[in-house]
Amino acid sequence: MMRTEKLYETDGHLFAFRSVVTEITELGGKPAVALAQTAFFPTGGGQACDTGTLGGVSVLQTEELNGVVYHVVDEAPAFSVGDTVAGEIDAATRFARMQAHSGEHIVSGVAHNLYGVENVGFHMDGLLMTVDFDFPLTKEQIDRIEQTANEVVYADVPVTAKTFSKKEAASIDYRSKKEFAGDVRIVTVEGVDRCACCAPHVSRTGEIGLIKILSCVSHRGGVRITLICGAEAYADYCDKYRQTLRIAALTASRHSETDQAVEALIAQNKELKNEIYAQKKRLCACIAAHAPASDGNLVVFAESCDPEELCEIALLLAEKAAGAAVACSGNDDDGYTYAVYCRGAAMNRHAKAINTALNGRGGGRDELIRGSFRASRSDIETFFRTFEVERP
Ligand SMILES: [Zn+2]
Repeated sequence: MMRTEKLYETDGHLFAFRSVVTEITELGGKPAVALAQTAFFPTGGGQACDTGTLGGVSVLQTEELNGVVYHVVDEAPAFSVGDTVAGEIDAATRFARMQAHSGEHIVSGVAHNLYGVENVGFHMDGLLMTVDFDFPLTKEQIDRIEQTANEVVYADVPVTAKTFSKKEAASIDYRSKKEFAGDVRIVTVEGVDRCACCAPHVSRTGEIGLIKILSCVSHRGGVRITLICGAEAYADYCDKYRQTLRIAALTASRHSETDQAVEALIAQNKELKNEIYAQKKRLCACIAAHAPASDGNLVVFAESCDPEELCEIALLLAEKAAGAAVACSGNDDDGYTYAVYCRGAAMNRHAKAINTALNGRGGGRDELIRGSFRASRSDIETFFRTFEVERP
C-alpha cells in the first residue's frame, strides 16, 4: 500500500484539502479510508488525532498503520477508490492543540536551556498538558521558565519542521534524541529549541498568545508541571477572573485585594467560633447550676444542645448527683440525644441495658456514654428514677 503523504508535516494551517482515495477498508468495525495525501493528523507525540469530514461523511478518528493514514468514518462513504474527495478538519480544535503543543516545546526548551533539565514525560489530556522534568525546580525557577517562554511568544519567532535522514540527524543537537528507525522530523523554534516531533505546530510563536504554568509538584525525583496555552489559557483566565469578581462582590473588596478580604473573613470566622465555644461553655454551666441536687440519678432536659454540650452538662451535673448525671436534648416526636456520666462507674457496661429500655443506640468508654433515645421524656424520667448504677 502506498504511504500517505502527510500534508500536516509541512503546513499545520492546512485545514481543507482534496485528495484521491487509495483504499477503503474497515478498522474496528467501521469503514476506514486511505488517501494519497492528508492534512488529518493521526495520534502521535502525545497529541490526539484530528476529526472532521471527508467526502460528506464524518471522520471519527485518524490512525496511522505502516505509513498509511486511515480515516475512520461513521458510515459507508458514497465515494470509491480513485475518486477525489474533499477533506475538512475541525480547525478550531486542531489550532488549539497546536497552540498547546508548540507552547510545550517552548517551555521544555527554555527549561532545558536555563536549567539543563530534560523533559522525560509529556501527556496531553484535552488541552491540559503535563510535562515531567528529571530534576527538581524551585518556584522561582518555574516562574522564570514561564516568563521566558512568554517572551518567546512575544518575539513571534518562526516555528519550522524539517525531516532529516538518520545519518544527518546524528550530527544535529536536538531534544528527545531517541533511537528512531527511519527519518527524524525535527521541529525548531528559532533560537530557542530543537526537538524531534511528528505533530503539526504553529508557524510562529506569536500564534500561541499565552503560556501559563498552573502547578508544579514533586514527581519521581524531579517535578511534574501542568500547563495550558493559547485559547485554553484565555478561557481559563476568563473563568478565574469571573471567580475573582464574584469573590470581590461577596466580600465587598477590590478585585486586586480578594486574598486579603478572604484572609480577614477566615480570621473573623475563627474568632466567632471561639466566641461561640465560650458561650456554649457558659450555657452548659448555667444549665448545670440551675439543676437541683439529687440523692439518686439526676436527669436534665436542655433545649437545642449538641452532643458535646450534653457531655459537658453531664460532667458538670455529676457534682450534684449521687447516681448518674443524665443530660438530654430533643423532643418526644424526634427522640432525644443523650449523655450519661457517673464518676467511678463503668457506664459502658450499662449502655446496653439503658439503650434496650429506651429504644436507644450509642455507647462510650468508662464513665461517660452518649447516643440517642427513641423514647418520650416521661419514659426517660421514669426509667432513671429507678435505674441503679453499679459501682465497683
Ligand atoms: Zn512535540
